[in-house]
Amino acid sequence: MNESQAIWPIGVFASIDAGLGVKLEVAQELGVPTIQLHAPAQATRTRQHAEAFQQRLREAQITLTAVFGGFEGESYADIPTTARTVGLVPRETRAARTKEMKEISDFARLLGVPVVALHLGFVPHDTTDPLYAEVLAVTRDVCDHCRGNGQALHLETGQEPADALVKFIADVERDNLFINFDPANMILYGSGEPIAALKKVGRWVRSVHCKDGTWAKRPGQEWGAEVPLGQGDVGIENYLRTLKEIGYTGPLTIEREIAQEPQRQKAEIGHAVGLLNELKQKILA
Ligand code: MG
Repeated sequence: MNESQAIWPIGVFASIDAGLGVKLEVAQELGVPTIQLHAPAQATRTRQHAEAFQQRLREAQITLTAVFGGFEGESYADIPTTARTVGLVPRETRAARTKEMKEISDFARLLGVPVVALHLGFVPHDTTDPLYAEVLAVTRDVCDHCRGNGQALHLETGQEPADALVKFIADVERDNLFINFDPANMILYGSGEPIAALKKVGRWVRSVHCKDGTWAKRPGQEWGAEVPLGQGDVGIENYLRTLKEIGYTGPLTIEREIAQEPQRQKAEIGHAVGLLNELKQKILA
């Protein structure tokens, strides 16, 4: 295997029966060697399904690199709704979702995957807010469960500016807590220029999303727009160069969060694969 194959294998965000990822067939048809998986629904998280899915992955010669948790009732309709409904931060759903996140970690273990990830939700930026201590506690709880399964926990970026995220990770005090860096989310949520953020959080980045977006007129108050890779404000070449600079060699996982007809989805992701391969050649040459 030459260097350009070993470094930055392309990936796509995929799903079986939940979430907005592409179907495994799309990854297979596009010849993508890795996927991250949105955790399937509870009824599918069984040993039998895990074994069947592993078999499909083997046949497709696809490596599963991470399982993402997601929960019933989450809505990304607008920024306030996201803050109210997403992740382990909202109090009303926290206990049930924490239990479910641990079950997802157990399912990932059945799949032999050493990484689980999630959108934690909006962590309060005021560290004296009682909610901040609660979110620290629940994150430690999930990290410790993952450790028991031999796994790391990756936090999806977006909601927090880089400095707040670094502070939060330090405060959790767990050595299996890392970052899934999503540059478009920084733009969509208006939480900071993604390249500068990546440089600050680089040492914790263990997985990434390749996703693009454009800034909102009023960042942080309204959503920016998610757009096909290469058409937004991230600056994908600069993004990859910065990943190289921080020493990141893991998968480049393409994520396209819009629900759309399969043909268009496949065409767009195929285009993203082409763009990443082109940039890989240029940058790793
Ligand atoms: Mg993402």
